[in-house]
Amino acid sequence: MATATKPAAKSTTKATASKSTATKTTAAKATAAKTATTSKTTSSRGIVKAKATAAEGLQELFVDSLKDIYWAEKALVKALPKMAKNATTQGLIDGINNHTTETEEQIARLEQVFALIGKKAVAKKCEAMDGLLKEGQDIMESTEPGPVRDAGIIAASQKIEHYEIATYGTLCAFAKTLGYNEAADILHITLEEEKQADITLTEAAYNTINFDAAEADENEVA
Ligand code: FE
Ligand code: FE
Ligand code: FE
Ligand code: ZN
Repeated sequence: MATATKPAAKSTTKATASKSTATKTTAAKATAAKTATTSKTTSSRGIVKAKATAAEGLQELFVDSLKDIYWAEKALVKALPKMAKNATTQGLIDGINNHTTETEEQIARLEQVFALIGKKAVAKKCEAMDGLLKEGQDIMESTEPGPVRDAGIIAASQKIEHYEIATYGTLCAFAKTLGYNEAADILHITLEEEKQADITLTEAAYNTINFDAAEADENEVA
């Protein structure tokens, strides 16, 4: 039967594709070739070859970005209590603890967004947050507890907040473009929280901590 041969051949291709990464790479090459006929030339000019799982539209890129920040927030909620434990200024400790509670709510909000767009809430490692958290750890290891470490914790935290502000700003824009207005509203609440967290950190730094940290310099000189 001619009709039976066709689907059989199709499923064989599928099974082979999921078998090995080598086949996946070939599939990616084939996909890339669809858009760029001169893939050899373009890659030599620094054009990155897409994976077989590469997003094909804004919708997929949106979902990938949600998975990324979902991982990031989950990693952050575990790291923040450690930062609070290493801080000595009460205002900073309170600020970090408050943002830990907010981060828990932000995770729940992301789960709401996944549900709204009909996708499973899945976390995918965010290399940027992983790096920012490692840098925070490095800063703590490089400072004695006190105002200098507090200043370092603020510096590391603000880098994190800025990453989140950029991420949620983008997610809001993507959601609006895709017509996910309810999701956009939810993401916007988090965006505003991240901006406020950044302001709180700046105030903590300028009100006392940086001056106390600078005083430690003078004491050392004296
Ligand atoms: Fe956050
Ligand atoms: Fe990320
Ligand atoms: Fe850095
Ligand atoms: Zn927004």
